[in-house]
Amino acid sequence: MDILPTVLLKPGAADRVVAGHPWIYAGSLLRLSAPAADGALVQIKDHRQRFLGVGFYNSKSKIHVRVLDPARVAVDVSFFIDRVRAALAVRQKHLPGASSFRVVNAESDFLSGLIIDKYAGVLVLQISSLGMEQRKPMIVQALQSIFAPGAIVERSDAAFRKFEGLPETNGLLSGTLSGPERIEINGLKFDVDILGGHKTGLYLDQQRNYQLVAGLADHGQVLDCFSFLGGFGLHCARAGAGHVHGLDQSAEACAAATRHAELNGLAAQWSVETANVFDWLKARTAVAPHEKVVPVFDAIILDPPSFTRTRAAVSDALRGYKEIHLRALKLLKPGGTLATFCCSHHVGAALFESVILEAAFDARRVLRRVATLAQSPDHPILPSVPETEYLKGFAFEAAR
Ligand code: SAH
Repeated sequence: MDILPTVLLKPGAADRVVAGHPWIYAGSLLRLSAPAADGALVQIKDHRQRFLGVGFYNSKSKIHVRVLDPARVAVDVSFFIDRVRAALAVRQKHLPGASSFRVVNAESDFLSGLIIDKYAGVLVLQISSLGMEQRKPMIVQALQSIFAPGAIVERSDAAFRKFEGLPETNGLLSGTLSGPERIEINGLKFDVDILGGHKTGLYLDQQRNYQLVAGLADHGQVLDCFSFLGGFGLHCARAGAGHVHGLDQSAEACAAATRHAELNGLAAQWSVETANVFDWLKARTAVAPHEKVVPVFDAIILDPPSFTRTRAAVSDALRGYKEIHLRALKLLKPGGTLATFCCSHHVGAALFESVILEAAFDARRVLRRVATLAQSPDHPILPSVPETEYLKGFAFEAAR
């Protein structure tokens, strides 16, 4: 193997790398032993010249080095084959039987800057680091040899690419794609718009929660807020809910959810409305001072988008979370179930729960927590890399 340029770290900067965090910021670097091209593989050493691993260098990113391995590995097609196979084994263990899932979740699978989703026979790549971008042909070759997919699509349209000096790119990398891909999630059919949908097509991170929540929700009237393609609501309908009403501000998402209800023989139990959830809940809970809101739902699901992408906007986000919980709780029957999620990395589980409890206090409801929920196991969490944990949720019963 060629001798790699060496990145020397400042005293104190090595511990985080040893603990498994792959991001090395510019401020942690002491110096480079030789010039390194952006995207090149470098070796990383502490200030006493002790070897810590190898990673990709990029002077244009705040994250100057993304560590790949604590050993001196060569990064070639077989490196990617081995790493993707290892990630796949984790999914096969924790999501046995699933045919659509996140195959590689970047840092959680020791491939910082690379996300690979599998939607039945189609693979979707999201690349957010220059080192991965430069090795795209190797990655595609590795994926072809493991999966022989019908198509490999790139959806690298995430805003964070600009932090690496990379333009957005979207398109077909190999194979052919004709219309939406029909997939199954826990046995329910969905048609996924791979090139145009949210994220890389569907919220795979809720795959396990769909089933858990459907198992907890009472079989009566269900309100699925932020319903998107109908994931939660349709799982509840299949589990026996009398009726599910979905709410989403995207007319396109509502139309897709209705098609999914039909596709799965659940149309009789399903309705959906194009609406802003805040406005809808407000209108349903607005009563004159002497009147009381009549609770009508046996289960309510709140799965909003992230209300904040930055730490600075957390307090606004908390106001938003409190408002929807307060109003939803007013509409929840005693004994009913509230399943609620927060995908803002900057709002941790404890803070999220405290906001829910403030809302419950204001609504004069007492909650019994019946489940603590997290992202599905194909989005593994490495506690030493806090950024890998973002989705948290709870299911509560309204005890009073
Ligand atoms: N529960 C869904 C994912 C929800 S993603 C699933 O499991 O697939 C968030 C959804 O909320 C998106 O479909 C978006 O269109 C919708 N949305 C965002 N803000 C909204 C608002 N204020 N009112 C209604 N829908 C909203």
